[in-house]
This record gives sequence, C-alpha cells and structure tokens, in this order.
Amino acid sequence: MTKIAFIGLGNMGSGMCANLVKAGFDVTAFDLNRDAVKAIAEKGATPATTLGDAVTGADVVVSMLPAGKHVHTVYFGEDGVTAHAGEGTLFLDCSTISVEEAREAAENAKSAGFTYMDAPVSGGTAAADAGTLTFMVGGDEAGFAKGKPVLDAMGKNVFHAGGSGNGQAAKIANNMLLAISMIGTCEAFNLAEKLGLDAQTFYDISSTASGQCWSMTSYCPAPGPVPAAPSNREYKPGFAVAMMLKDLRLAIGAAEGAGAKTPLGGHAEQIYDGLMEDGFEGMDFSGVMKRIKGEI
Ligand code: NAD
Repeated sequence: MTKIAFIGLGNMGSGMCANLVKAGFDVTAFDLNRDAVKAIAEKGATPATTLGDAVTGADVVVSMLPAGKHVHTVYFGEDGVTAHAGEGTLFLDCSTISVEEAREAAENAKSAGFTYMDAPVSGGTAAADAGTLTFMVGGDEAGFAKGKPVLDAMGKNVFHAGGSGNGQAAKIANNMLLAISMIGTCEAFNLAEKLGLDAQTFYDISSTASGQCWSMTSYCPAPGPVPAAPSNREYKPGFAVAMMLKDLRLAIGAAEGAGAKTPLGGHAEQIYDGLMEDGFEGMDFSGVMKRIKGEI
C-alpha cells in the first residue's frame, strides 16, 4: 500500500488528508499546530510529532502550506523533508506558490534525487472536504503517473499542465481571469440596477446571453439569483479577499517576469489591495460588489 506523509493540516489540508485516509492510503500527518495533528488522528491518520517522523519511509509526500517560503523550508530547510525521505520519493506540493519558486523547488529536489511536482488546486475548503478539487499539475510524465492516484482521491479533475511550474502558471492565470470577471460582473449588475433592471431580470437575460460567465452563474455577486452564492450570506467566504489578492500578486509578478501585459489584472490587483487595506481581507472576494456600489 502506498505510504503517504501529509504536511500542512490547515483549512484545506485537513479535509484533503481525511480523504486520503478514507481512500485507504496509509497516511502519517504532521503540522506545526498540534491540535490539527490531534484532530486528523481522530479521523484515522497516524500522528507524527516531527516532520522527519512523518516522512521517513513514505513513498509520497503531500504538502498544503501557506506560501513559497514555507514550502522551501519544509522540503529543503535544515531537518526538512529531503533530510529524511528515502531515495526517489515523490513530492506533491498542492500549495499555491510562485511559478519561479515551484521551478526552483523542482530543480533542488532533482539534484537531491527526488521528484517534485507542483499540484495547486482550484476549489475552496468545501471542495477540499468533499474531495472534489481540481488539480493542475506541473512536472514530468512519470511523476504525474505516480501521483495521479493520490490526487484522484482528493479531487474530481486532475490535469497535467506540462513541465515544472506549469501547474502554478495555470492556477494564477485562471484566478487572474476570475478576479477580472468578478469585478466586471459586479459593474454590469450595478449598471443594470442603476438603469432600472432588478438583479433577477438582468441575470435571466445576461446568463443566457454573451455576458455569461462562472462569476455570474455559479457565484453571482448580486444577492438573489444564485442562492448558494456568498452574496446571500453577507459575503462570508467562500474565497476571501486576502486569498484572491495573494493569487493576483503572484500573477502580476509572474507577468512582469514573463513580459506579459496584464492591464486589467493589474487593475484588479489594485482594487483587491484597496479592500485589504481597508480591513476587508476576510470578506468573500465577490464582496467587491459593495465597493462597486459605493457601500464600503
Ligand atoms: P492554512 O493557513 O489554513 O494552513 C496551512 C497549514 O500549514 C497550517 O495548519 C500551518 O500550521 C501549517 N504549516 C505552516 N508551516 C508549516 C511547517 N513548517 N511545517 C508544518 N506545517 C506547517 O492555509 P489553507 O487555507 O489551508 O491554504 C493552504 C494553501 O492552499 C495556500 O497556499 C493557499 O493559497 C492554497 N489555497 C487555499 C484555498 C482556500 O480556500 N483556503 C483555495 C485554494 C488554494
């Protein structure tokens, strides 16, 4: 049976780890937060008291950490994963980090005799708990083939996006588009309302016309038309402003490095940065509707 070490049992990682246990994998889990380790042990994972204990003897290491610096510390820092893992161990890092950091991690891993795949996810905590995440994977074919059964147990779609860093590239390009389409959807609903259409009437028309997009039909920022959307529960996340801003910063940083023009992505970053500065970091990102309406 494949032996998995799972590192990072936060909002996303705890549900993902529980799904690996449910799928029958032999999972040892570690987090700096002891309560998180205790909680996952109650769901059937073997608790580890150190990173080294979790990783020793594992075939695959799965990580779900806040940012690139945590990923580099966990894998390559003193007493990190590479100091304890057996030769050839596969690393599946599901955290959202920069393309550059992911490519550097893959290089570091390769020279130490390991395979590192970037495998960021789309879908929030509900999808992590339900095992319905989408994974975008960067790295070689052999690593993808070995990692796919593990990712399948945590998600409903697993895509191979190409070489190292391409998973992160797909993730940040997608989320930049999401931010832009969300702000555009807010502007359109606000304009329609000011011109005399209620949200439902505009929704019925635009959702079957050329303005249709995911931000409108699955996550409508105007309260009413999509009952499950955060707009109907005072913009409680969902996907918080702080998370969207993190992804936009990664996208704009990568775009600058690659010489790709992103005028609307840059403007979206400024708008979410403004919300963050004004203390709305915990609001769902569709709450940008309130700013467009001039309510906040
Ligand atoms: P989180 O902060 O809730 O969880 C991160 C966990 O990592 C924490 O439990 C923390 O204690 C642990 N950790 C930090 N450093 C560690 C170390 N050195 N050793 C062991 N454990 C360590 O974050 P999250 O919301 O679960 O997000 C994780 C990643 O997933 C982020 O990169 C985020 O951008 C991405 N993501 C989040 C969402 C979401 O909706 N929350 C959606 C998609 C992607």
